[in-house]
Amino acid sequence: MQYFRTLQAKLSIFLLLTGLVLIILSLYLLIGAWQEDQRSRNIMNKARQAGYLFNALKDLPFERGRTNVVLSSGKPVSERDRSFIDERRRRVDENIGKGIALIGQNDPALAEDLRRAYADHLALRKKIDAVLSAGSTADRSELREIWFAQTSAFIRKIIRAFEIFGKRQDLPGHLAAHHRLMIYTLEFRDRIGQSASIVTAALSRNTPLTGNEYQSFLANLSQADYVWGKMEAELQVLHEEALQRQKSAVFEAYYGKYRPALEESILLNRTQMAQPNRFKKLQNLSVPAFDSVFLLMEAYKKTVSAEIKDYRKKVARQLVFALFQFLIGVLLVSFTIAYFRIRLFRPLNRIIQAIKDIRSGKAAPTLGREMQYADEIGQLSAGVKLLETTMAEERHLRELSELRAVTDELTGIYNRHYFDLNIGGILERADRYGETLSLVSFDLDAFKRVNDTWGHPAGDAVLAQSARLAQSLVRSSDLLFRFGGEEFLLVMPHTPAAGAFAAAEKIRQAFEEYEHPEAGVVTASFGVTERKEKESFNAWYARTDRALYAAKQSGRNRVVSATDSLPLVSPVHLEWMPAWESGHPQIDEQHRKLVDLANSFLAAALQPESQPADAMAALERLLENLARHFAYEEKLLSEAGYPGAADHAALHARLLEKTRRLTESHPGSEAKATDCFSYVVNDVVIGHMLSEDRRFFPYVRP
Ligand code: GH3
Ligand code: MG
Ligand code: MG
Repeated sequence: MQYFRTLQAKLSIFLLLTGLVLIILSLYLLIGAWQEDQRSRNIMNKARQAGYLFNALKDLPFERGRTNVVLSSGKPVSERDRSFIDERRRRVDENIGKGIALIGQNDPALAEDLRRAYADHLALRKKIDAVLSAGSTADRSELREIWFAQTSAFIRKIIRAFEIFGKRQDLPGHLAAHHRLMIYTLEFRDRIGQSASIVTAALSRNTPLTGNEYQSFLANLSQADYVWGKMEAELQVLHEEALQRQKSAVFEAYYGKYRPALEESILLNRTQMAQPNRFKKLQNLSVPAFDSVFLLMEAYKKTVSAEIKDYRKKVARQLVFALFQFLIGVLLVSFTIAYFRIRLFRPLNRIIQAIKDIRSGKAAPTLGREMQYADEIGQLSAGVKLLETTMAEERHLRELSELRAVTDELTGIYNRHYFDLNIGGILERADRYGETLSLVSFDLDAFKRVNDTWGHPAGDAVLAQSARLAQSLVRSSDLLFRFGGEEFLLVMPHTPAAGAFAAAEKIRQAFEEYEHPEAGVVTASFGVTERKEKESFNAWYARTDRALYAAKQSGRNRVVSATDSLPLVSPVHLEWMPAWESGHPQIDEQHRKLVDLANSFLAAALQPESQPADAMAALERLLENLARHFAYEEKLLSEAGYPGAADHAALHARLLEKTRRLTESHPGSEAKATDCFSYVVNDVVIGHMLSEDRRFFPYVRP
């Protein structure tokens, strides 16, 4: 059902219907033309049959007439008459035989009828020949009447057969008129022949016409005139010059010359006796008159056969045209359907498939051929191609930016952002499946010195190379992150502490053995922990960081595993912050020194095995430096014209005062000791540098 809603289906159905109508229409025309062609063939065939009958009728009235004359006279048959009759008989026999044979193919009953009449005719001929050769004249007049009646009946039968042919054919246009004209001509010839024969018989007997003969004579004449009238009417309509001319010739020969002579002869015959000259004159005039009728018949025959030929040609042309039209129709429809399929439907389907594939991210089919088309399909394909390229580029860019978002640009390993995104999932998975997870945190040793000595770019190169080294040594299931400046985290799924320790050790050794082109060997310190069940990341990381710190504390370039056997290291370690950077070299150096001393003090004070004396010594060193630094700073500030110089100096004094008080009360009291550490680290070193000192930074910056 969905298919029928497509343009392809609708157009296909439309094309098929149009084609079907076109084909049915041309098929209808073709069948019509074919039938017309068959009909014209049939007419042609029948015309041939009719031709033989027609030719037979040309000679039969002469055979009848001359035989009539011979039988009428009491004299023996002259040589001339004999040969005239024989010649006519021969032609009659030839044509009748062929005509009947042809009619037999289509109309056996009619042919049989004609054959029987012909057989009677032949039998009568024999009888007449026998009488004539016997030389007796006694019963000739009776025989003449029989002959005349039977031959006339035979002629009429043939004319009827001729007529039947025309009726059966349902002849088209002029052919029908021509056919009628031929029948009239034949009838006319028959009538004038009969009338002539009646008169000739009387004249040669040299007796007046009997009443019956006269009646028959008049009937034939009026019949001839009647038919002539019809012929003239037909000829009027036909407008054929040859026929018109021939008609005038007949009129002139028959009505102009022969007929007056005939009428005069009859008049004389009725009133006077013995007119032998009349007979001769009449016979002389009858020849051109009767001949003219045949010439007219010949002219008819010619036009008719020409017309039939024309008709045949026209029909054949129509047939060829209809066939051509039909073929063109079929070709056009097939071509159109094929063209639509090849140039529209198939490319459209391919384009649609391409669009679907592009949308689902699959490799789209190549629209190479379609793109070469200069039409709408070509434009559409080019558009789809462009879309595909744009989408691919966009996808590539997206992938690239996604990759950028999760990787660190300098080292190429995962960045802090990606770590934050994934750590939750990693821990969740480990909790669900009871996975053993280990974490290695490592930090390059004395990296600040690398930067200071070789410059930041060299430091960058060391960082990148170190990351590459570490990455090349871990398993693909391990996740290596750049966690901060030069601190890295290695998350190791399915790995217990011992495995993580070994991995860290491998990396450490690799660092130790690697000579950076500019900076030389840069080692790192490693803290390793195995995650406790359900441990939070912060707690886990704090343990790891403590282990790392312990590694740093115990001399760097080593791996420390956070096992319980390990000495607890100070959980507090001050990192130098960029915000503390004043820009004044001496001040910054002194500040860094103070941070270092604070760290040393914290480490000494908070380590379980540390001696209180060590802590005190570290504190002494710190305070000593602090006092020296304060004095330097106060001098610098007043020289630099810092407006708060006096206040700052007063603050220094207050800080030193309080510190001294706290240190003095320190020994003996644990609580006091904690207060002291916290005050020294938080208020004096960090708090002061972070808040108060920062105010004068702009005044001392070179
Ligand atoms: P240690 O860790 O052994 O205690 O000594 P350290 O010198 O490494 O000390 P610290 O961790 O305080 O110094 C880290 C230095 O690394 C400070 C900072 O300028 C530098 N650093 C951080 N990130 C980058 C970086 O992306 N490129 C470079 N060149 N240096 C960096
Ligand atoms: Mg470092
Ligand atoms: Mg560091």
